[in-house]
Amino acid sequence: MKPNKRLSTDIIPFVDLKRQYENHKAEIDEAIGRTISNTDFVGGSQVTEFEQSFAKLLDVNFCVSVGNGTDAIYIALKMLGIGVGDEVITVANSWIASSETITQTGAKVVFADIEPEQYTIDPVDVEAKISPKTKAVVVVHLHGNVADMDALTSICRSRGLYLIEDCAQAHLSEYKGKCVGTFGDAGTFSFYPSKNLGAYGHAGAVVTNNSDLAQRIRTYSNHGALNKYDHVVEGINSRLDSIQAAVLNVKIKYIEHWNEQRRKIAKRYSGLLSKVNQIQLPVERTDCKHTYHLYVIRCLERREELRSYLEDRGIQTALHYPTILPLLPAYGYLNYCGTDFPIAFEYQHQILSLPMFPEMRDDEVISVSEAIVDFYDSTRS
Ligand SMILES: *Cc1c(COP(=O)(O)O)cnc(C)c1O
Repeated sequence: MKPNKRLSTDIIPFVDLKRQYENHKAEIDEAIGRTISNTDFVGGSQVTEFEQSFAKLLDVNFCVSVGNGTDAIYIALKMLGIGVGDEVITVANSWIASSETITQTGAKVVFADIEPEQYTIDPVDVEAKISPKTKAVVVVHLHGNVADMDALTSICRSRGLYLIEDCAQAHLSEYKGKCVGTFGDAGTFSFYPSKNLGAYGHAGAVVTNNSDLAQRIRTYSNHGALNKYDHVVEGINSRLDSIQAAVLNVKIKYIEHWNEQRRKIAKRYSGLLSKVNQIQLPVERTDCKHTYHLYVIRCLERREELRSYLEDRGIQTALHYPTILPLLPAYGYLNYCGTDFPIAFEYQHQILSLPMFPEMRDDEVISVSEAIVDFYDSTRS
């Protein structure tokens, strides 16, 4: 074995939110302080300002903020009329929010496999899973990469299905020049702290070009009332806190820059790792813009060994996700097995998410990449 090149004992974190805060501390602290001084806590001018800026940035007519990205999906589905007796198709590899929200409406979740290069929902398998009960498809733009929107919009249009885009990992990712979240009936976003645009607690939003849907979402998420005490239906309590909106109003100014930084880091990784035959690098869809919420490689050999090798060198990695959704205990009742989703199931054992955040330094990207090169060099059989 070659000696370990990296002698530093510094940890390379998977994500470091502190660096971003330190870079913008004065501005963020001022915004939070001002919101508290104004005793604005839920709703108010900060929230309206954020909704307007986010809609403008995405070039969409309406943005309705909600409590978090999970509620955003649930409320969008519910307000599109999805419920008991319906089926909704979503992707086998995602965060459970993409599927649990379908079940919460009373509908049945049906999983589809992923595309081999992009790791996003496979339109061919979506088509195969459509039944007379299918009402909607929840597409997930996983890792910041975009799903095949031409194929998916055409399937949904021709079959009369609602199309919801879960964009929790894809703020300002683009498909052929247009932001994701604006293709279907509704786009849902999470502003969880570690997302590309993150608040300092829970926050989410639904975007849509449909004014009637926007109004229903706003009403439902506010106890069924657009105006205080005027409850036209029973709803839920899922609103954006003013302090979170104040943080987001500061951070929204930098999201495009941060996404560019992520893209630069991704390009650097891909350059440094291009000669490692044992791994598959992320593939950006043609004419699209990946925003690298995650930089996910696929280890064709010895992923677990590589993971511990990196960990021993202070390099943190993660798995997105260790178990595909249909195989989680939560979905045991659907009786799926791995071979039902051949690609997602194979990849579950290969994927590895490398450290990725806009403030990551070049020497850190180099150290991570060199460690991977060294691992496969030194263990070559
Ligand atoms: C983070 C995430 C969500 C949920 O967002 P929360 O704000 O944590 O509720 C939904 N879908 C995907 C793909 C996510 O990564």
